[in-house]
Amino acid sequence: MSRTLFTSRAGGDLKLSRNREALRTSLDLPVLHFMKQTHSDTVLVVDEAGEDFECDALITQSKGVGLAALAADCMPITFSAAQWVGVAHVGRLGFTSGIAGKTVAMMRELGAGDIKATIGPSICGTCYEVSPEMYQEISERYPAARTSDSLHALDLQRGVTIELETQGVEVRNLKICTLENPQYFSFRRGAEAARQAGLISL
Ligand SMILES: [Zn+2]
Repeated sequence: MSRTLFTSRAGGDLKLSRNREALRTSLDLPVLHFMKQTHSDTVLVVDEAGEDFECDALITQSKGVGLAALAADCMPITFSAAQWVGVAHVGRLGFTSGIAGKTVAMMRELGAGDIKATIGPSICGTCYEVSPEMYQEISERYPAARTSDSLHALDLQRGVTIELETQGVEVRNLKICTLENPQYFSFRRGAEAARQAGLISL
């Protein structure tokens, strides 16, 4: 049985180590792993050891080891299966590099059966406006992320949902838009560099 949690502004800026430690303690987790996220497609398998992994997705089968993905408009996505849990940070670059699907592929390679994913608070398909050129390029490659040519906003939540469903993953989207909900940090709303997180543990 896994435990999933998405924090909000009330959890404080999780870029700060004191807030990370307070969160770990409040969840009674012996270990809570964070990542040095670089919008990469790197997925790492971890146990209790190590810290600040350079990657954008983590998976583990170690009980009591929490995994966290920081975000403030990008999608924090959690993954759960019988013996495995995973977490991914998926923004535009992570989406186009397929990191969500790679996380699922690695979990399956390691023996995970049915996988469920939850898409946490992130910018929605109405709010994520990009340049018309970028919209054109990405929506041609990923029709599921298309909204309308006049709006030229990308629906990455839907894009990743379709990507994962195609791989047989059951997807739940919390459908919370970070830009529209002030109780969440949003990179686009202001200059704040603060982050909330999606967390999961076995
Ligand atoms: Zn929105």
